[in-house]
Amino acid sequence: MKKLHVYNTRSRRKELFEPMESGRVGMYVCGITAYDYCHLGHARCYVAFDVIYRYLKYLGYQVTYIQNITDLDDKLIAKAQEEGGEGDIKSRVADIARRYTEAYFKDTDRLNIIRAGSYPTATGNIPEMQEIISGLIEKGYAYQRDGDVFFEVSSFPDYGSLSGKNLKDLRAGARVKIDEKKKSPLDFALWKSAAPGEPSWPSPWGEGRPGWHIECSAMSMKLLGPSFDIHGGGQDLIFPHHENERAQSEAYSGRPFARYWLHNGFVTINQEKMSKSLGNVFNLRDIFQRYSPRVVRFFLLGQHYRSPVDYSEDALKEAKRALFRLDNCYGMVLEEVGDISSITLDEDSMREFESAMNDDFNTAAALAVAYKLAEEWYRNYRKPDLLESLKSKMAALKKICAILGVELINPIHDVLKSAQSINLSDYPGLADRIIREGKLTEENIGTLVLCREEARKNKDWARADRIRDYLKGREIMVMDRPGRGPGIVYYPEQLD
Ligand SMILES: [Zn+2]
Repeated sequence: MKKLHVYNTRSRRKELFEPMESGRVGMYVCGITAYDYCHLGHARCYVAFDVIYRYLKYLGYQVTYIQNITDLDDKLIAKAQEEGGEGDIKSRVADIARRYTEAYFKDTDRLNIIRAGSYPTATGNIPEMQEIISGLIEKGYAYQRDGDVFFEVSSFPDYGSLSGKNLKDLRAGARVKIDEKKKSPLDFALWKSAAPGEPSWPSPWGEGRPGWHIECSAMSMKLLGPSFDIHGGGQDLIFPHHENERAQSEAYSGRPFARYWLHNGFVTINQEKMSKSLGNVFNLRDIFQRYSPRVVRFFLLGQHYRSPVDYSEDALKEAKRALFRLDNCYGMVLEEVGDISSITLDEDSMREFESAMNDDFNTAAALAVAYKLAEEWYRNYRKPDLLESLKSKMAALKKICAILGVELINPIHDVLKSAQSINLSDYPGLADRIIREGKLTEENIGTLVLCREEARKNKDWARADRIRDYLKGREIMVMDRPGRGPGIVYYPEQLD
């Protein structure tokens, strides 16, 4: 079988993945700027790299995964100035960063994103950045102007090779400001002199603060060494952020920086670009009100990480249905054959999954394998002679989903488990009360299913139908399984 190949932005083709040190992978992914809540674009990026992280570990690599938190930049400072409040500007910026970093972890935990090995911050690495800046000045790659330090792009001949731009075109396209301190408009800031009302740190060039790009060079090289395997981020970071990161890092260390540059694609909303001016930037916490984080994650996995992904109500509903079909299959497997956690995985299925993932982490193709397995179950579970091989296939299905970070759940069992443990005949009006109140918690659904079963036992068909119709109206369908207790499944159109 073909080994893992990854698309390298730098070479613009898929390459065989060979880490520098056998069995170990160093991976750095640009993290959030902690000044606001996360939106779908963040979910896209961090789910994509979470899957990459999980899959590399599945392949047996020991992965050191670093993701920075930008806790100092123009947007954070502007927010702190706007909010005002007690304390000096430095501590107010730190408060905002702390608040949104916490929110970030809450959101990403809910998306079942495994935490990176460490999350270094910009303010925690100022001396490291200053050391690189000093080195760049010494080596002639950077220059000072009135307390600012700039990287001189023309001193690094390979500049532009990551993003596929050449210096001549970049120069022609650059706008020249008259009072510009830079030698060339392409040069970028490594250190910015202190401005009134901004947080600042002492430095050999006077009070000031670091530029943004230098932060990632300092943290990645400090934690992974001057050369490492994977550098990731969104496509919007390729230029100028990653181009600048690479130039300053290689100029400083004299060694090649990241070997594989991986970039995830954009998110559009109903085919439109996501932007604050269009008012279509949805915070994850708002989306989670309507779709569970699990469904959102599953939706994102439905596209290859480099492709654009379009968010729409229809697409989310489709993802919800598709995931339910897998859950329901798993629920049925547990009902029919019991626990499958110690069953040997079907080799062919796992091979098919790996060959999808080895093709640049193609989660869409990997999910196709999962769907195919579920269809096999629905088609063949009543055939006793196929049951043994089906068991292995179902074990593979569960494993494949788990590697992608989606643990299948048993919708039948899980809902009933949370039902009220009371003697229903003592509470004749319970179902009516739940229906009247209209609150559809998991516990209420479970209770209604049990009430319906009770009504059927008492041949109270009207009540049983009333409960069934109510649930159906809320997109929940009760499936009868004669002689085997109450059953429940969602989405009637998914049943055969
Ligand atoms: Zn970065």
